[in-house]
Amino acid sequence: MARRLFLFGLLVAALVAASVWLADRPGQVTVHWQGWRVDTSVPVLLMAMVAFMAVVAFAWRLLGMVVGAPGRFLARRREARIQRGYAALSDGLAAVAVGDRKRAGKLAKQADRLLADPALTGLLTAQAAELSGDEAEAEKRLSSMVERPQTAALGLKGLLTLAKRRGDNAAALDYARRAWALGAPAADLATDLFDLQARAGQWVEAEATLDEARKRRALAPEDIRHRQALTQYERSLQAERDGDPASALSLAQKAHQSDLTLVIAAARVARLLHRAGKDRKAAAALTSTWQVAPHPLLVEAWLALAPAETPLQRVKRLEKLVKANPDAADGHVALAEAALAAKLWGEARNHLEQAARQRPGAAVFILLARLEREERQDEAAAQAWMSKVVTAPAEPAWHCASCGKPADLWTSTCPSCGTPDSLWWGSKAQALLPAP
Ligand SMILES: [Zn+2]
Repeated sequence: MARRLFLFGLLVAALVAASVWLADRPGQVTVHWQGWRVDTSVPVLLMAMVAFMAVVAFAWRLLGMVVGAPGRFLARRREARIQRGYAALSDGLAAVAVGDRKRAGKLAKQADRLLADPALTGLLTAQAAELSGDEAEAEKRLSSMVERPQTAALGLKGLLTLAKRRGDNAAALDYARRAWALGAPAADLATDLFDLQARAGQWVEAEATLDEARKRRALAPEDIRHRQALTQYERSLQAERDGDPASALSLAQKAHQSDLTLVIAAARVARLLHRAGKDRKAAAALTSTWQVAPHPLLVEAWLALAPAETPLQRVKRLEKLVKANPDAADGHVALAEAALAAKLWGEARNHLEQAARQRPGAAVFILLARLEREERQDEAAAQAWMSKVVTAPAEPAWHCASCGKPADLWTSTCPSCGTPDSLWWGSKAQALLPAP
């Protein structure tokens, strides 16, 4: 602004200077042209020239306006068309979000026609096609999005969802891998890729996915550590199958360290350490997991460390494990059973009463019946306990969180439906409760 003012001032000063200069030097001009003769003064001639130039400039501008009008009209129309296209696109996406199939389909067609850019309208047209159940059309649209770098990740994610829905895990894995390679830090994509690799038994690749997810901060650190425990546990099994006991042990130890609550890894570490003659380390591994996740599998692994001990030795040794987490129901059951075998009736009764308070169930009732029979030969009391077994709450077991089916053993993927990391320990009644 200041610059323009300065230029304007300069121009006025120059004009004033020129007028003064001309006024000081009056003169006459005579023009002869084609038999014409014009006599005039210099200032008048200059003014006539300026006026002539102004008329020419005005005429030129007028001509430009007339000639350029159709082009401008078309540009305005094109702009309005694109505006309507974008409006249809955003309204269409809103319709998809609320599941309005008819409106989404109509707006998708409109946006497609107005914007004439399949890569841009691909998401809407694909989602509208998906809503109306036209998977072939949705797939075609999503594939066209993959060709454009800006929409490739979105297209691949859409294709991944479609492949998962029709149960084509091989195709889903391929799409997930390609989408992940584009570098997005998305948590659901990291989870999808890991799960698909786990389903396919590609545990080494699954572990690489976790490393990358950590770098991209795509998953929470504890989530990564838990999944890492699964991959290390599975790789430990593979090392054992390959005849490499050293790797089998070190991988099992890593799995145990990655997630102390993974009881299967603790039990495996204990078994492998026992085989290597390291019973103290085995006991330490079981105790550390018993503290955070008491489980019958740990008791089983603990007892396997000294298979030849006497019943009394067994009670003494079991107490060392149980005291790491003395209130656990499974600890009371285990100690009661060992005390029964050692004929330590008082101790057996004490632990069974505690167990019955915490988790009344068939296993505890059967042990109580055994106690009545063996300690007091009281058949009537034993029968009273046995009559409760039929109506007792179900004992805890492994269940799949995805398909709901029970499993005899814990495995990284559900033996019934193949979902990774879906087995949890508890009773079926708990499974029917809504998730907290
Ligand atoms: Zn399942």
